[in-house]
Amino acid sequence: METTLRGVGVSHGVAIGEVRHMGTAVLEPPAKSIPAEEAEREQGRARQAVEAVAADLVARGNLAGGEAQHVLEAQAMMAQDPELMSDVDRRIAVGSTAERAVYDAFAAYRALLANAGEYLAGRVADLDDVRNRIVARLLGVPMPGVPDSDEPYVLIARDLAPADTALLDPALVLGFVTEEGGPTSHSAILARALGVPAVVALPGAGELAEGTVVAVDGSTGEIFVEPTAEKRAEMEGAAAARKAALAASTGPGATSDGHKVPLLANVGGPGDVPAAVEAGAEGVGLFRTEFLFLDDSKQAPSEEKQVAAYRAVLEAFPEGRVVVRVLDAGADKPLDFLTPADEPNPALGVRGLRSLLDHPEVLRTQLTSLAKAAEGLPVYLEVMAPMVADRADAKAFADACREAGLRAKFGAMVEIPSAALRARSILQEVEFLSLGTNDLAQYTFAADRQVGAVSRLQDPWQPALLDLVALSAEAARAEGKSCGVCGEAAADPLLACVLTGLGVTSLSMGAASIPYVRATLAKYSLAQCERAANAARSAESADEARSAAQAVLSGE
Ligand code: PEP
Ligand code: MG
Repeated sequence: METTLRGVGVSHGVAIGEVRHMGTAVLEPPAKSIPAEEAEREQGRARQAVEAVAADLVARGNLAGGEAQHVLEAQAMMAQDPELMSDVDRRIAVGSTAERAVYDAFAAYRALLANAGEYLAGRVADLDDVRNRIVARLLGVPMPGVPDSDEPYVLIARDLAPADTALLDPALVLGFVTEEGGPTSHSAILARALGVPAVVALPGAGELAEGTVVAVDGSTGEIFVEPTAEKRAEMEGAAAARKAALAASTGPGATSDGHKVPLLANVGGPGDVPAAVEAGAEGVGLFRTEFLFLDDSKQAPSEEKQVAAYRAVLEAFPEGRVVVRVLDAGADKPLDFLTPADEPNPALGVRGLRSLLDHPEVLRTQLTSLAKAAEGLPVYLEVMAPMVADRADAKAFADACREAGLRAKFGAMVEIPSAALRARSILQEVEFLSLGTNDLAQYTFAADRQVGAVSRLQDPWQPALLDLVALSAEAARAEGKSCGVCGEAAADPLLACVLTGLGVTSLSMGAASIPYVRATLAKYSLAQCERAANAARSAESADEARSAAQAVLSGE
């Protein structure tokens, strides 16, 4: 009998197929003790396994490219962490086997991370994945991860580690469903980058029996278990119609009455550029430069390396617009040379622009590298700072840009509610705003973006979040300046119409979402978008806001 489950849809499209579960079993090696003379050999075995796993992660990263590559390389570094390695050596020296020592050393490190607060949840999943890989290698058992199957399937997992998401083969993996993870988690962002339909935050997904047929709607978050023939036909028909509409929609983003809303791409480096160009992105609305810095958490990349990476992205959009975000380190993206190690709550500590103002030399090198990268190119460069809290922050950033001799527009991200509330004051210092709705939701609702249990509050349809978007867009309009959205909210086609109705001037998203947003926006006039925006803001909940906007746009 058909039943319906509901999670959070994070990557559009429909997937119908049999369920296969991710190999997530935690392999606990037996606690047996070894004689002292075997310690050295065991230490060698442990080191070899760590090196092999790190090399495998790096190789997977090379294959995947883009943001995934940086995430995987960061995982490889985790595996080789010198403190973890000396703990492994120490445990072996007092009688542990290599596999047990790795297991216990990682458990100790994990407890440290977990006790440091919920904000590290995403890194804990990455750490567990690294541990499982090393232990599996030492035990000579198959690696945990994507199932071996020649037939296409719907992948079910508790949470997907970046290492696995990066290697999902879209030809085999029809879609995926996870029990954990919020709409702005790493997994969700990577799924969109891959263009695989995905639903997250669905508790109980793990209980679906292997081989069960499910139909996944990555837009609504619905999973139909054992769908009837009619339901399958209905979903397949809707997916085919959508595909045809997507193929027919090309050109710059605009409403049906010609109100232009440039559709830009979010990229993590040169590896993401081809997909952006192919999707018809009109430029880059968010270049997350921190991925360049995650390779080596001990020091910033050289000016030479930075210039090359920036130039490769800038060159891809001749005469287009490229918005580069300066380094956003801290919280879930800590860097040893910037991020204080002893903060009780790093998400509320020295992160984003705050780190850069504490380390002006790092900001200066980044800005001068950008200036050099843009030299001689016709590109329309814009540079923005993450986590701007007030006018003083905006002024400090604009001053640093001027001092570095950067010829670009300077902007501020609106990710902290104070910045939305005082957007006009911030606009006295900078020329544009860009709404980072992922963090803006996190800070408005006090809801960690990595925690599936609070994904209800991470929903960008929350009317309070829409109010802050409206405040920022109105401030920009009053100042004659622009206000884009570069958070994940922009990737939801219906919400993109509402954001346009709220006065947002550009939308930036993972490349795979651009055709969906373009096609939907083209169906409605600006006046319809404005009415949908008013209806959504008048609602009392995210679900009501979504239904109210849908009702207005479908003319109900
Ligand atoms: C955001 O917070 O919405 C954003 C775009 O930045 P990031 O997701 O990189 O924190
Ligand atoms: Mg952010």
